[in-house]
Amino acid sequence: MKSLATVTVAGGGVLGSQIAYQSAFKGKSVTIYDISNEALKQAKQRVNALRDSYKRDLQASDEQFDAGLERLSYTTDLASALADVDLVIEAIVENRSIKHDFYQNLAKLAPERTIFISNSSTYLPSDFMEDTGRPDRFLNLHFANQIWKMNTAEVMGSPKTSPKVYQQIVQFAREIGMVPIELKKEQPGYVLNTILIPWLNAAGYLWGEDIVDPQTVDKTWMIASGAPVGPFAIFDMIGLRTHYNIVKEQEGDNPKLQSFLRKMKERIEEHRVGIESGEGFYHY
Ligand code: NAD
Repeated sequence: MKSLATVTVAGGGVLGSQIAYQSAFKGKSVTIYDISNEALKQAKQRVNALRDSYKRDLQASDEQFDAGLERLSYTTDLASALADVDLVIEAIVENRSIKHDFYQNLAKLAPERTIFISNSSTYLPSDFMEDTGRPDRFLNLHFANQIWKMNTAEVMGSPKTSPKVYQQIVQFAREIGMVPIELKKEQPGYVLNTILIPWLNAAGYLWGEDIVDPQTVDKTWMIASGAPVGPFAIFDMIGLRTHYNIVKEQEGDNPKLQSFLRKMKERIEEHRVGIESGEGFYHY
């Protein structure tokens, strides 16, 4: 199977900058495309800030990190970013109409052979496949934040994705150091969030209704399952704001989760949002 060597990452935000650098670090020739020079400046800062993590977590040398930087370029010109590219990885904002417009543009500008993948957390490939003009060469590859160490890549096609293209993406994921998680059909939330979100909400319910405190929930889970952390430590890792927004959107009117949502909101207003603020359910 032919390896995908040239890659354009659209959107140099939190995830796009990580995906782009990881791909370049693993030998791909990568362009980051974003909408403005200001957005590209921020993307560059995000990429450069990865150096310490690669040195600490992957024992990369400065020379190895710099070699990755040399394989990376930046542009605001979509046509040139697509001129001769094997793969486009879409990591732009999670907004349906912006993504629709973006794929319609891509369809016009990208070479016919180019494969498109989306890193969307909530949309399915079927949501955009007709916009791409190539439903057989379009699927989702969903990374987790801090991709160099939390290295799952969930692979999810639509009913129209070609099995050969799907396997090319599985291979690409391996080549850039990911562990591919192959879904056989479309599933909102992929594998991880299908399990994680209801599990976190069950823990939140116990706290919200004052049945037990967060530390007791975690202690129960850790002793009984042998896991190193419990759900409230996970809330702190992903950030309370992120989970609050997901629950509000998906389960905003679930009566069992109202007290949980209210208590989460209070913590967010007090800026106790998890590891990033030094305090969530635990102190850091
Ligand atoms: P972000 O807000 O950090 O970055 C989005 C980037 O997209 C910005 O740089 C913005 O300038 C750019 N952008 C906006 N409109 C654009 C357009 N029309 N063309 C090109 N670029 C455009 O967002 P993020 O957290 O990196 O999320 C990006 C995607 O990755 C989303 O689909 C999200 O669901 C997914 N994702 C995020 C995470 C996470 O933990 N943040 C994890 C997995 C997947």
